[in-house]
Amino acid sequence: MTKILVIGAGGVGSVAVHKMAMMPEVFSHITLASRRISSCEQIARQVEQKFSAKIEVAEVNADDLEQTIRLLDLVKPSLVVNLALPYQDLIIMEACLKVGVHYLDTANYEPRDEAKFQYSWQWEYHDRFKEAGLLALLGSGFDPGVTNVFTAWAKKYHFDQINTLDILDCNGGDHGHPFATNFNPEINIREITAPARFWENGDWQERPALSDKQSFDFPEVGARNMYLMYHEELESLVHHLPEIQRARFWMTFGDSYLKHLEVLQNVGMTSIEPVKYDGHEIIPLQFLKAVLPNPGDLGEITKGKTCIGNIISGVKDGRPKNLYIYNICNHEQAFSEVGSQAVSYTTGVPAMIGSALILKKEWQGAGVFNIEQMNPDPFMKMLNQNGLPWIEKELDGPLSF
Ligand code: NDP
Repeated sequence: MTKILVIGAGGVGSVAVHKMAMMPEVFSHITLASRRISSCEQIARQVEQKFSAKIEVAEVNADDLEQTIRLLDLVKPSLVVNLALPYQDLIIMEACLKVGVHYLDTANYEPRDEAKFQYSWQWEYHDRFKEAGLLALLGSGFDPGVTNVFTAWAKKYHFDQINTLDILDCNGGDHGHPFATNFNPEINIREITAPARFWENGDWQERPALSDKQSFDFPEVGARNMYLMYHEELESLVHHLPEIQRARFWMTFGDSYLKHLEVLQNVGMTSIEPVKYDGHEIIPLQFLKAVLPNPGDLGEITKGKTCIGNIISGVKDGRPKNLYIYNICNHEQAFSEVGSQAVSYTTGVPAMIGSALILKKEWQGAGVFNIEQMNPDPFMKMLNQNGLPWIEKELDGPLSF
């Protein structure tokens, strides 16, 4: 019997629970908890209508350590899957240590009052998880997640030496809204408006946000403008694969999205500094989130595909080699399978796969680990079996920019 507790009943949590329910031989007991029990009940109803699974639900404010510990004590899961927001990571990790439960997440810790994310806060927990004989697996989404595993796989099977890594994230989907984010708007906008950082020759280089643009012809999507951005997997990948000389992350944005973002930034709506309004203190970015379309409601109207993958250049058997590994995910197919668009799908499926590998004890360890430290083989196999097939292609040369 394996009990799993998923915290966070948003877009990603919904996909993960749907996919877990499709694998009852691994996930025999599923509890879904979130800040509002109504979010959990809605997902549980959808899943129970589709599959013969029973989903338990619970309410928890995972900003509150005592409440979170009480929930873990009550449910007694083997693994907690944190699909709430990055702000809750450290509290949930503390609760897992207190109760003696393995931990998995998809996004690294970020303090609420500072738009900054880095792994050091979670890596500091390594010794405590190790002493407790528990595993904390960080970043089991798509990026971070699948992109880290693609890199580990490339190192294992395709390269003796990796020189450069470019992660290309394209959402070629269209939901018809002039401006909406594909996942939590607050987290998404904080990420996009931060300065672009990349790794080159042993150090971090910085550029102003959205200042470096390139065009790339994405398979099955077509040519799109993509922008250099900082993304959390760069930090762990250059840490665990120090041979990498240059690591960059690129994301596509449409012109209308960028025009709206610029205006919102210029008028102060993306700020996380509190302002007084009508006697209340509000945070402009949180207010903006409240008026934007809910990413969870975009699934039904989003058409098109995502294409996310890695272009890796290096050396194999003394010769230069260039490889592109990527996945294509179709928004409408994702919606018809689990009722969510591809951005939630591409994150929720890897969260389910990482969880399954821990529960099946194919991935084991004591301490805090990033996903690229695990054996990529069973994860790559499960991607193909669970809706995120990948393609690898040798390229004639490295990226020209
Ligand atoms: P949503 O905003 O849709 O969902 C977040 C959920 O967390 C909501 O249901 C919310 O609860 C719940 N929540 C928020 N605060 C608390 C709290 N204090 N206690 C308990 N529950 C809480 O976000 P997404 O589903 O889009 O994203 C989930 C996570 O996945 C985020 O951390 C995001 O950064 C990460 N992500 C990772 C990606 C990757 O590729 N690695 C890609 C996309 C997202 P309620 O509804 O009950 O109020």
